[in-house]
Amino acid sequence: MDAQVILIIIVAIITADFVLERALSYLNRRKKNHALPEELKGIYDEQQYQKALAYQRANDRFDAVTAGFGFILLITLLLTGAFGWLDEQLRPYFENPIFLSLAYFGILFLASDLINIPFQWYSTFVIEEKFGFNKMTLKTFVIDKIKGYLLSFILGGLILGILLYLVIHIGQDFWWYFWGIAAVLMVLLNMFYTTIFVPLFNKLVPMEEGPLKQAIESYSQKVGFPLDQIYVIDGSKRSSKSNAFFSGIGSKKKVVLYDTLIENHSIEELVAVIAHEVGHYKKKHILLGLALSMLQIGFTLFVLSLLIFNKELSLALGADQLGIHLNLIAFGILYSPISTATGLLMNIMSRKNEYEADAYATQTYHGGPLQEALKKLSVHNMSNLLPHKWYVFFHYSHPPLLQRLQAIRREMTVSS
Ligand SMILES: [Zn+2]
Repeated sequence: MDAQVILIIIVAIITADFVLERALSYLNRRKKNHALPEELKGIYDEQQYQKALAYQRANDRFDAVTAGFGFILLITLLLTGAFGWLDEQLRPYFENPIFLSLAYFGILFLASDLINIPFQWYSTFVIEEKFGFNKMTLKTFVIDKIKGYLLSFILGGLILGILLYLVIHIGQDFWWYFWGIAAVLMVLLNMFYTTIFVPLFNKLVPMEEGPLKQAIESYSQKVGFPLDQIYVIDGSKRSSKSNAFFSGIGSKKKVVLYDTLIENHSIEELVAVIAHEVGHYKKKHILLGLALSMLQIGFTLFVLSLLIFNKELSLALGADQLGIHLNLIAFGILYSPISTATGLLMNIMSRKNEYEADAYATQTYHGGPLQEALKKLSVHNMSNLLPHKWYVFFHYSHPPLLQRLQAIRREMTVSS
């Protein structure tokens, strides 16, 4: 295919994606003005509900501005051939194609992050701050940034350098090897997520002895869940939005609860939240998710192997010769319709899994406290109670609150 056609396809994909996202966001915004259904009344008091709507409006406006800005910037860079221009500027300084690519990505990464800082700053210190979510100080913001840069430049540079070396030396068959490496890494990440990765950014402490720990342990025993350790994580250092998760492959599971979650929920509600997570484990959702992600990665790498040495892709971005870094950028855009489609399928499956985990928690524990917990979480996170169905279809990995509450109630009448 000739470079001109590829550029047209690239611009068309970016434009179509932008239009789709804006349209979904528009539908979603219009839906919010409708009155609350009976079941959702009383979750929020009127004042809180107005605050939640104001929070969503502020985020919508902010998203529209960032998306519009990003769209115009990217299209301009593509149509002016800026990506190729940067490549030409760097070539005289680098003999080695790997160092050339690393320098290229380093500059792009730094430039895009610097452009993003005002947006991140505004989101954290103006929007989140105004609605009381932000627990981040300027100091943690800066420290996180520096940690992020160090990690990206040292670790990212090292990994990218090795990968580029392998791609160049193995040739088109690289995707088989990469797939194998990715699979091993994913399993390791899953195993050591709580012990190695989370502590880099948050503090984990074992949960104190007490009624909560006892309740979690006795539930785990009842349903035969191989509980190893329960941790509390200091999520409140950064945001007061709350969560729970567990990790570990094999017979030892570590459960992690956010301190903010513990503060806001009763013991029964917390056990119900854990019962939901145990449901994911018992219904093999975690294994299935891992397997599907691996398939997805394999397919992506295969398509990448077909495109990475194609000179026309580099020409489409305005360069005069093949550059692997340019082809990676072009690939990222050309592949996005496929990743949107697979993301859609994953979301459909994930929403189904959420219903199953809710049903499991209702059957093995109690539906009532789970409903209460979900309502509180929605209020606490100021979730959109009435998202548009198309917006949910494309973007939601979890069903909206109303549908979950209704499904749990049906399950409660069936099991009683
Ligand atoms: Zn879930």
